[in-house]
This record gives sequence, C-alpha cells and structure tokens, in this order.
Amino acid sequence: MSSKLPESDAVAENLDPVFISEQQFDRAAAYVRGLKRGLIDFLKKPKRVTIVNFPIELDDGSVQSFLGFRVVHNRVFGPGKGGMRYHPDVTMEEVISLAKLMTWKCALVNIPFGGAKGGVVCDTKTLTESEQRRITRRFTSELFDVIGPYKDIPAPDLYTNEQTMAWIYDTYDVLHPGFNNRPVVTGKPVEMGGACGRTEATGTGCVFAAQRFLSKALLPDRQEVAGARVAIQGFGDVGAVAAQAFYREGARIIAISDSQGGIYSEGGLDPDAVAHFKVEHGTVVGMANTLTITNAELLELDCDILLPAALGNQINAGNAHNIKARLIVEGANNPTTPQADRILGDKGIYVLPDILANAGGVTVSYYEWVQNQANEQWSPDDVMARLSDRMNTAVDTVFNRWQAFVVGEEKPAGRVLSEEPVDVPDFRTVALIIAIERVTRATLIRGIWP
Ligand code: NAD
Repeated sequence: MSSKLPESDAVAENLDPVFISEQQFDRAAAYVRGLKRGLIDFLKKPKRVTIVNFPIELDDGSVQSFLGFRVVHNRVFGPGKGGMRYHPDVTMEEVISLAKLMTWKCALVNIPFGGAKGGVVCDTKTLTESEQRRITRRFTSELFDVIGPYKDIPAPDLYTNEQTMAWIYDTYDVLHPGFNNRPVVTGKPVEMGGACGRTEATGTGCVFAAQRFLSKALLPDRQEVAGARVAIQGFGDVGAVAAQAFYREGARIIAISDSQGGIYSEGGLDPDAVAHFKVEHGTVVGMANTLTITNAELLELDCDILLPAALGNQINAGNAHNIKARLIVEGANNPTTPQADRILGDKGIYVLPDILANAGGVTVSYYEWVQNQANEQWSPDDVMARLSDRMNTAVDTVFNRWQAFVVGEEKPAGRVLSEEPVDVPDFRTVALIIAIERVTRATLIRGIWP
C-alpha cells in the first residue's frame, strides 16, 4: 500500500514495508543495551504467518478466490492482537510489518498482548454487504483455531468495522460452542459486548496525545490544542473521530480529505457537517464554501498539526521537504517513511509516532477484552478517563526518556546496525527503544531466550 513518489526519489527510497520496519528497529536497537545479535534477529521476524486462499460466490453467481493473511509477530506479553484490513493492496509483507508495529505498540502502552495483524486482498468498494459477510465468514472458518480469545484477537482496521467484527465473532462462536467467545474479537457492536468508546478510541486518543505533548512546551507559542490549525488526511474511523475531538477542544480544522480528494477552509470546517455531507455524497469533496485540494496538497499545508489517518508511506522522501506542519500526529500506521523522519527532524518538525499516537485503539480493545471476561460493561466516561490516563502516561514516558538524551544522560549503546546513531533520537526511535527494552526483558525473564 505504497504512495507514488517522484521518479528520482522513488528509486532512492525503498518502500518495502518489511525493510522500513527493520530500518526503524535498527535505529532504536542502536540504543538498547544487552541486546544480543541473535535476539535482534528473533525480534525482527514474525512468530507465525498464516496464508489462506478461499473461494466465494458473488451475488451475480460467479465465483472468485480471495487471499487472506493472519500474522502473529510476538506473544511474549500475551495473545496476539491486531486489526484486520480489507484492501486491494494488502500484501503479506505489509501485514508482517503491521504485526510488528502492534508488538511495540502494546509494549509501549503496557498492554498484555503481543503483536498481530491480518488482512484480505479485496476491494470493499466493489463488494456488496452480503459478499463482504461471506468473505468474512469463510475467512474466519479458514482461520478456525489460528485466532481465539487467548491466542490471537482481531479488531477493525482499514475498511473493516464493528459489523465485520460481529460476523467474525458469530462464525467463531458457531465453531467453538460452549464457551464465552466474546473476547475473540474487539471492536464489536456495543450490544454484542463491544466497549463503549471503542470506535472513538483511536481518534480521541490521538487528541489526548497531542494535547499532552503540546503541554511540554516544545512549541512555546502552541501549548494546547485549543486554537491550533489542524489538517487531517482520511475521514474514516480515525480521522473523522479525531476531527470531532479536535473541534470539541477548540482547534480549527482547516482541511480534511478522503480517498477522492480534500477540502480546505481557512475559517474552519465543522466535522459533523462534513460527516453529514460525506454520508449523502460518498465523499467530502464538493462541500459548500470549501476549496477542493488534493491529498498531496493537504499534506503540505501550513498548519500547526497534521494528522495522517489513512494509508502508509504518505509522508516520504518525495514530499517531506515540503511539509510545513509543526507537529505530525500519526493516526495511521506507518504514514511516515524513515527517510522522511530524518528530513522532518532536520526541519524541526516533531512527529508523535503511530505506536504512541494511535495506541488508543488497542488500549480500549484491551478494555473490551477485560470487560468480556467478566460480562461487564463500563460507562463511556469510565473508558475515556482510563484512556486519557494511559495516553498521558505513555506520552510522559516517551518524553522523559527523550529528555534524558537531550541533556546527555543517555547515549547510543555503541552498536551500529544499518546506520550511525545520532545523539538525540526522534520520538519514534525513543518510543521503540522503550518497547524493545520491555519485550527483551520479558523474553529473558520467561526464559524464551537461552
Ligand atoms: P477507515 O477505513 O475507517 O478510513 C480510512 C479513510 O482513509 C477513509 O476516509 C478513506 O476515504 C481514506 N483514504 C483511503 N485511501 C486514501 C488515500 N489514498 N488518500 C487519502 N485518504 C484515503 O480506516 P481507519 O480505521 O480510520 O484507519 C485509518 C488508518 O489508521 C489505518 O492506517 C489504520 O491502520 C490506522 N489505525 C486504525 C485504528 C482503528 O482503531 N481503526 C487503530 C490504529 C491505527
């Protein structure tokens, strides 16, 4: 699922998702002490990769084969956890890299899950609801015991939602009678054991993270979300909810986009009005009193906060030089490439990385799993208060560790992997250092590593 780059940069930058995740890992591993070479190799590779190929009868009577993946990267802290995405560009390499990201994300926010991810190569825009239901049921049957409440727990991701999770739950439950199977998936409809606030968790968590980060005064004239000019790429579960949460906090949403393009209004957009327009017209583009812009133009807007909330590799060597935002909050997974990270760092643009900024989703997924064990339902206020606490703690942990590098208390560990480490790593690298240290410690304590 890679973006198009100008040809000269495309040659220079390798956008293979596994390569990118290894580059990010190598950058962080250069600061982690006691990490043996063999352990590095172990942590880089997925624990289990499942590939299934299955036929579905389409509504017109024809039969089409679909390819599905489920990957568990690491289970040292507990069962695998990660989304299921339905997209025509899904590849095994992408799913592997996203499963790794989940390992680091869960470790960073102290959630007792390992990293997993899945996907089906399909285009939901050309499939009817009943075709999507049949794909989901058959995919779940093929996975059978690969997933499970204590093995691997799927959740929504790109082009999947609570309805998809209800179908997965129902299929798994039919295949495993006699058990409380609700914790097999999270992100279910509330009336089926879903957590209040799960749909809002990722987008709202992004805003909690942005608010906490701004309060650290690294941008002295912009210490709160209120009044910030915000541009948002993607208007789905993450982008639309984040837009509403930013708006509630008093930010001005100057631009929003979806797969068909973007809209811009210097006076500010009302996210509820944009959502209504999108329901009626299938896109945000064309809303009254807005200028139409491209997704590329949105990313390069002059703004305080840029929230990529769509696909990977959107900010890359081809456009990073033109980014004018002061803070990037990664709602999407992997929206920024390693080369872009370096360019943004040189320009003094801060990036709140995906494993920190969008961890609200897996956090409330974990709360859903806990509630399902006890057949309880926590109130929305309770869920949001817990989410806010956990996001604040995670931002504080990353920020404090980063400061230790700034004041020179911490240095690289003397290990050079793919590139020479810098004295003060960026926030992505610091977040990964913390996560890798935690997973490494648990691996050693459990005696998994000889
Ligand atoms: P979604 O399917 O609900 O929404 C995706 C949005 O992106 C849609 O508005 C779509 O129009 C837009 N989009 C698609 N292609 C685009 C393009 N080429 N340019 C611009 N916009 C485009 O998906 P989501 O759940 O909001 O997930 C978005 C991102 O956030 C993904 O990277 C996902 O992995 C990540 N994420 C999601 C969650 C979650 O809880 N849903 C949690 C963590 C991370």
